[in-house]
Amino acid sequence: MWPSLEPAGALADVGHAYPQAGAIHIDLCSLRVYFEAGSYGSENVESSVLTSEQRRLVEGKEYNISNCSRRQFLRSSLYASTGLLGVGPVLSALACGGPPDPLPSDRFDRRVLADLHIHSLIDDWNRNTPLGIRYPAIADFADRYFNRSGMNWRDCHAAGIDLICAAHFNVFDEWLSMPTDSNPEAPTQTFRMMDHLEEELSGPAEPYARLARNRHQLAEFLDIPKDSPEYRVAVVHTVEGGHALGGSIYPLEKLASRGVAMLDITHFFSKDVASAANSFPFFPDANSRRPNLGLSEFGREVVCEMERLGMIVDVTHATATAVEDVLDVACRPIAVSHGASRTLAEHPYSLYDEHIQEIVARGGIFGVILDPYLLTNYANVHYAERSGSLRDVVRMVRHLVKLCGGHEHIAIGSDFAGYTVAPSDMPRLSYVHRLTKMLKDEFEDRRMVEDIMANNAIDFLMANWKTGG
Ligand SMILES: [Zn+2]
Repeated sequence: MWPSLEPAGALADVGHAYPQAGAIHIDLCSLRVYFEAGSYGSENVESSVLTSEQRRLVEGKEYNISNCSRRQFLRSSLYASTGLLGVGPVLSALACGGPPDPLPSDRFDRRVLADLHIHSLIDDWNRNTPLGIRYPAIADFADRYFNRSGMNWRDCHAAGIDLICAAHFNVFDEWLSMPTDSNPEAPTQTFRMMDHLEEELSGPAEPYARLARNRHQLAEFLDIPKDSPEYRVAVVHTVEGGHALGGSIYPLEKLASRGVAMLDITHFFSKDVASAANSFPFFPDANSRRPNLGLSEFGREVVCEMERLGMIVDVTHATATAVEDVLDVACRPIAVSHGASRTLAEHPYSLYDEHIQEIVARGGIFGVILDPYLLTNYANVHYAERSGSLRDVVRMVRHLVKLCGGHEHIAIGSDFAGYTVAPSDMPRLSYVHRLTKMLKDEFEDRRMVEDIMANNAIDFLMANWKTGG
């Protein structure tokens, strides 16, 4: 247990990762784990403030993930959780949040927000995975310290949100069998997550949200006026990461029959589907030759089968090579559910402008992520968390509209409740009207803003989502 907190902004060096990645750090203010230099930008270590006693405790716990094995990595996570939980009550008071906006007057607008990517139940999912059950401290840790932009259905309903694409992704299960091996249990876990969401929507969330199993239901739900007692936030199943397939093509058919609209073919690890864009430098894909591998043979099969089934291919998190490979293989429009342009944000995660133009020219959709760190070139996550705001989102939207010669294929994919940094002036999804207002101020075109916030994503789903009957 750590006896005390150091001042805000202090950094704790908890060991050294393998050479390409640089050192691992935990920010004691935000408790966000991040990294020095390495291949992932130019993050600097400001200082190390651990007392010698704290350092001894931390460094003794195998944080060194050089030549990291899965077992070592998970053990490290567990130690981090148990060590940091001791300061939870103090830190929770520092978390972003506060009361939601007063009910905005325009919540009855025909459209408020259709969000292409949000992790609506990630905390519960993590808690219900085999790892979460065995080591609840890990799930507690992730929930309490990383999930700052967590949402609740009632607030989304009160804000008048139209549609949420609920992304099924379990951070812990993806890490199992890392880096490249498939986890044969992954499809089972994905279906459990879908069950869990459906139980939530027919149980405690029933007054606020309901599942649309196909585009016809979605159209029906979206026709209900916001002032009707029948109005609910429409929710659509989507999946993040080809690892969810467990290395097999067969789960796709069942995912399609259950109405999964979109699957993001890769995530933190390639998992023999498509190379992943190095989200974290200490992950074993980083600095390997893997980022250049693009779409695997299995990945090609996945894309073709998804198109056959009417499921939308999402290339968020894919490397540039993988994006090009998908564009070579795909016959139907594809999606970037939560992305950014590399022109404004120099991250491996961001897409090159020419790829964005190609995706849009072929009828695709580009959902802008609302994480200021990934929208800009802030020196590090810590700085982005302090200084990032909706201005960063507006700047990205402006760039994309210009790049694409119009706004018709630009949408929003917040990635909220998914361990990302939220804009300081939009800590929760229920503050969405602040984004709308800023976009209206920028473009002075109410209809265009409504399209970006909702209509474009809805039109794209209506045209391209063919699963679920
Ligand atoms: Zn993502």
